[in-house]
Amino acid sequence: MASSTAAILCITCNKKVSVATCDGCQKRYCRPHFNEHHQELVQWMENITQDRNKLKEEIDGDCNDHPLMSQIDQWEEKAIETIRTVAKQARAEIKQCVRKNKDTLEKKVEDLTEELKRRREDDDYAEKELERWEKQLKDLRDNFEKPSSMKLEEDRQNSPLYMIKVKQQGMSISEISDKILSIMIESECIIT
Ligand SMILES: [Zn+2]
Ligand SMILES: [Zn+2]
Repeated sequence: MASSTAAILCITCNKKVSVATCDGCQKRYCRPHFNEHHQELVQWMENITQDRNKLKEEIDGDCNDHPLMSQIDQWEEKAIETIRTVAKQARAEIKQCVRKNKDTLEKKVEDLTEELKRRREDDDYAEKELERWEKQLKDLRDNFEKPSSMKLEEDRQNSPLYMIKVKQQGMSISEISDKILSIMIESECIIT
């Protein structure tokens, strides 16, 4: 008997008697909580409307604002940063090599200067000597301008960069920058 007359309680507070059932979720509520539940649905609707407006705005907006564009921007920034880091390292290594090379060349130029001075004072030279000094000077200049121990090399295997391409329905429609190469230095710094 008691069970058949027992009041069904509100799903939210579980204290007050339920007075209404929501058709949508089939849950029963007391009056204040039924109103609260209705407010929740109103808020939900409001959120959906806002999301819809935002989406419409984005669709109507500039192609440049598309989320995929910012993905490309990010890739670009990262790639540039990588190139700058590699270039910075390469410059530092070249500087070090050039400095070492300069020291060696300066010593050789000094030796040549001494010899030239002495021979000139003694008036002790002929074609053979002049030719030798001329060649010596040319070699030193070549070594200064294009040191044989240093060169830049394209390192295609160890490239820290990856390329991106736009794909549509499994087909590549464009390739972005297919030829950025990382430059790495042969870091041997042998001064001859
Ligand atoms: Zn309630
Ligand atoms: Zn409901």
